[in-house]
Amino acid sequence: MSLTEPNRILVTGGAGFIGSHLCSRLLMRGCEVLCVDNFYTGRRENIEHLLGSPKFELLRHDVNFPLYVEVDRIFNLACPASPVHYQADPVQTTKTSVMGAINMLGLAKRVKAPILQASTSEVYGDPAVHPQPESYWGNVNPIGPRSCYDEGKRCAETLFFDYNRQHNLQTKVIRIFNTYGPRMHPGDGRVVSNFIVQALTGEPITIYGDGSQTRSFCYVDDLVDGIIAMMDTPADVIGPVNLGNPGEFTMLELAELVRELVGSSVEIIHKPLPADDPKQRKPIIDQAKQLLGWEPKVQLREGLTRTIEYFDGTLQTRSLNFAR
Ligand code: NAD
Ligand code: UDP
Ligand code: UDP
Repeated sequence: MSLTEPNRILVTGGAGFIGSHLCSRLLMRGCEVLCVDNFYTGRRENIEHLLGSPKFELLRHDVNFPLYVEVDRIFNLACPASPVHYQADPVQTTKTSVMGAINMLGLAKRVKAPILQASTSEVYGDPAVHPQPESYWGNVNPIGPRSCYDEGKRCAETLFFDYNRQHNLQTKVIRIFNTYGPRMHPGDGRVVSNFIVQALTGEPITIYGDGSQTRSFCYVDDLVDGIIAMMDTPADVIGPVNLGNPGEFTMLELAELVRELVGSSVEIIHKPLPADDPKQRKPIIDQAKQLLGWEPKVQLREGLTRTIEYFDGTLQTRSLNFAR
């Protein structure tokens, strides 16, 4: 995506956590960005700093409905990502993943634009193979509370590969592993934001289950590097490509680290483990290294420190506004 190339970029879900960082980065590269979002989980404040840019445009729109715009490249990120939010209206989640993908693929086909799908490590379900290579087909419950997201994203991958084979569309699929950083919503419900907000506000840290389950956490700036590197690959690189940080931590280790970095002694309490909660997750990123020349740079301690600073700032601003 150099300046000499066509550079009108559509980012669906652009007002969300990852999408807003991607929009910022694309503008910094000189692109024109059309951010499409229905604000289901996204926030205006995530993109407020971009609204003054003449190269940034915001359109409130639900990707379940057709969209007719002229663009050169499409990043399809629209979809709630936190289990709390994607399970609140599971039918809408499946629709967004599947109908949203069909509409964005139809748009990409009409305007002949390369299109990238933000898929997820959730396509591996509760993985029986550890760590996970892209060749693993996964272990997903098709009828559980997480299925709307997992199966929705799996079907979206199917559509991307079929549009590639059937319509010769330039498609790219990345599988994103747990990502964290500034601009996560304090009420997002995912583990990193929950633990940080709890430690900062003096609430007990809530570990679901015994805390021995593992996740691999990628800092958002690293992820955005990977997303853009994937879009920049030649047409024959279609993925799927894992994007994540291979450092693997138990939720107990994460809780201890957050407490240490916040300098808090809040207690750790246990709550029931949600149904179908994956026991372990860690990406193999050889494909990303070879095809994109990408690997994450920010280690968990460093990324958490930056994220804690962000939440500390937002929570203070919120309580000040509340007090007024
Ligand atoms: P997020 O919830 O902050 O952002 C999602 C955005 O999509 C929000 O702005 C939301 O309003 C918008 N959206 C939802 N439904 C929509 C619809 N029907 N039409 C238009 N906009 C809609 O989540 P995020 O963490 O930024 O995730 C972004 C993408 O990355 C998602 O597709 C998610 O599945 C994927 N992903 C994220 C992670 C992660 O750890 N954050 C991991 C794997 C995959
Ligand atoms: N679509 C869209 N914008 C476009 C072109 C298509 O939203 O610029 C939608 C269209 O409504 C259709 C979907 O994308 O439902 C799939 O389009 P495609 O051309 O693949 O299929 P068809 O129109 O033949 O069903
Ligand atoms: N989790 C937890 N406490 C929380 C929120 C989540 O222990 O307050 C656990 C959750 O059960 C899961 C892990 O942390 O095992 C990651 O959860 P998250 O919702 O962040 O992402 P996902 O399950 O989609 O990987």
